[in-house]
Amino acid sequence: MGTTQKNHLCQVCAKPSEQTICPACEAKIRGEILDEKGKVEKAGHTETTRH
Ligand SMILES: [Zn+2]
Repeated sequence: MGTTQKNHLCQVCAKPSEQTICPACEAKIRGEILDEKGKVEKAGHTETTRH
């Protein structure tokens, strides 16, 4: 196996990372997704509570 272990670059911040997306960016992306999800959940929950 002639695998050339070159430095991978994060697809988000373009910094050397072993993964396609470095842990820092992955956490950020996950946080954004969770935040968006939380907004929707919160909005729905508020409506249900008010109703
Ligand atoms: Zn990154």
